[in-house]
Amino acid sequence: MNAKGLLALVVVTVVGCGNADEQLGAEGEAAKPSELDSSAEELSSDEGDYYNCFAGSGCASPALSTSTRCLKGRDYKVTVNDAQSDVVVLSIHGGLIEPNSSELAQAISSKLHYSLYDFAAHGTAACLGTLNDFNRLHITAANFDDPTAVRLVGRHKKAVAIHGYNDSRGNDPGTLCVGGSNAKLVQAFIAAVNQRKSRFTLYSLRPIDAATATASRGADCTGITGTARANLVNRTLDGAGGLQLEMSDAIKADLLNPSTRYDALRTVFYGALSAAMN
Ligand SMILES: [Zn+2]
Repeated sequence: MNAKGLLALVVVTVVGCGNADEQLGAEGEAAKPSELDSSAEELSSDEGDYYNCFAGSGCASPALSTSTRCLKGRDYKVTVNDAQSDVVVLSIHGGLIEPNSSELAQAISSKLHYSLYDFAAHGTAACLGTLNDFNRLHITAANFDDPTAVRLVGRHKKAVAIHGYNDSRGNDPGTLCVGGSNAKLVQAFIAAVNQRKSRFTLYSLRPIDAATATASRGADCTGITGTARANLVNRTLDGAGGLQLEMSDAIKADLLNPSTRYDALRTVFYGALSAAMN
């Protein structure tokens, strides 16, 4: 591997979620040394993903929807609920790709009466081969072009996407990397969290503007800005773009933990999201 390839490997490893959008180029391929099985599809993805896109209309093979290796219903499930609301919540890296992204998106949809698009991966051995669900079925948000999802987002004024960044960032559990191309929504969500966060005292919440912040200890949002125009969350009705929330595994688990210890966290998070979206 040359120096450039090595750099790409490091970048992809650090980014983890893969939502680096435009930051990662085809060099991300270097991040797949574990793909040793012999399918002809193996070496053609970019940005570190196995599938280059979902639909296959605008990308090189392999595309998930035409794959014979990983099948809808068997290896992944798509859930769509059009609530005719102003807002749609997205979890395109759900199931076993990012812990609790599906569950949190569903909870948001049900609590705030938002429409929902969820992609939940539960790959069988035939689909996964030597890879895990993340490495086989994670499709970077800017390449996630399921026509059902694109149409759904395009019918909504606002969108919010739930993601999980990799623990290897070393972030504090309360670090929220706030991105998406709608700067107004980004600022509104950050302000709404800051206004409410003192109500939750188990750890501190730190909403960070992913597009502008400099990485600091425990708060590294580098490369997960979610600002690419093609990012599914930004493909809203009026073109104003959406809000992307990259969160720790821990805070997603706490938001879903039924213990009353986390009631205040839920009050802060759902209150802030609802206020930002109004
Ligand atoms: Zn993600």
